[in-house]
Amino acid sequence: MSGMAGARSVAALGLATALAASCAPQQRVHSGRFLAFGTLVEVTIWGTDERRAHQAIHAVEQEFRFMHRTWHAWRPGALGRVNALLATTEWFSVPPSVRPLIVRGTELAETSRGLFNPAIGKLVELWGFHQDERPAEPPPEPGQIAELVEQAPRMTDLELEGIRLRSRNSAVQLDFGAFAKGYGVDRAIELLRQRGIDNAVINAGGDLRAIGRHGERPWRIGIRDPRGPGILASLEIEGDESVFTSGDYERYFDFEGVRYHHILDPRTGRPARGVTSVTVIHNQGAAADAAATALFVAGVGQWRDIARSMGIKFVMLVDASGHVHMNPAMAERIRFEGEETPPVTVTVTDPL
Ligand code: AMP
Ligand code: MG
Repeated sequence: MSGMAGARSVAALGLATALAASCAPQQRVHSGRFLAFGTLVEVTIWGTDERRAHQAIHAVEQEFRFMHRTWHAWRPGALGRVNALLATTEWFSVPPSVRPLIVRGTELAETSRGLFNPAIGKLVELWGFHQDERPAEPPPEPGQIAELVEQAPRMTDLELEGIRLRSRNSAVQLDFGAFAKGYGVDRAIELLRQRGIDNAVINAGGDLRAIGRHGERPWRIGIRDPRGPGILASLEIEGDESVFTSGDYERYFDFEGVRYHHILDPRTGRPARGVTSVTVIHNQGAAADAAATALFVAGVGQWRDIARSMGIKFVMLVDASGHVHMNPAMAERIRFEGEETPPVTVTVTDPL
């Protein structure tokens, strides 16, 4: 699961909510918080009576707990069992709780041209990012990395017929950490809508999806500075939108002066270089989450192509030297909040 160390993600969430609170009207607002996916999740609902709002928040919490248990790649649970069976390359029945992630994950892997690749669970494990706390050990042996890259596990190695599943490649191990949170936020929003709630925000450690109206004014959220304690920029969201960020500060270890972080380039088998964070806005949380990861891997040279291929209209990428790259649609919405505005390059990603 996208494992963010608790304290860091709470800080990021604090920033997002602090900004929100200054804009949100205090009346008819109900909110609840709980821990899930290794982060603090905050659900805020507007314009619904208290009893209904709190029942809905409770239902969302139960759903998040279920999803966390089910989709965890390295704790006992449904996905763990699926991974054990995939390694046999035999046919088996896939649990209904995991099947939709395989289907959606395969689509997103394809449009990202394999840069978002949830089949690289073995690589994630080799690097030690499948644990909540990675010990400060040396990075893996180059030979072990090369072997996994050569085995090239991909979502297209999977054969899915109804509820029957098998992998043609024994190296496929699923890790949905790069989009399960987004997928989960979408599910939770769906659950709220089924209960007649149309104005809400679900904020999972600074990654969020909003629907409807949020009081009288638009909702302003902060985007964390990847290299500082504060926020780099803010933007307003209205209507149905998700904002997801992937950063090299979320999960990493330092060894002999080099930072090794958790976003791996499936082509090299190593942490993607040259980028510190990518923020994406899209209506659907699952696509926004997968795209933030894919564009991080794509880097300064390729993010425009992959954004176009994934149908993403708003992108902000911060490179390793602190230079900000955006497309014009995103540039119109971003407001820098620091004392100094960073160097910015705006380039066109159209037509979409
Ligand atoms: P995120 O924070 O959403 O960018 O997701 C990062 C997490 O997804 C990592 O902790 C890994 O579990 C997994 N992961 C790392 N690299 C990739 C990749 N290229 N494609 C898919 N999942 C990845
Ligand atoms: Mg992601």
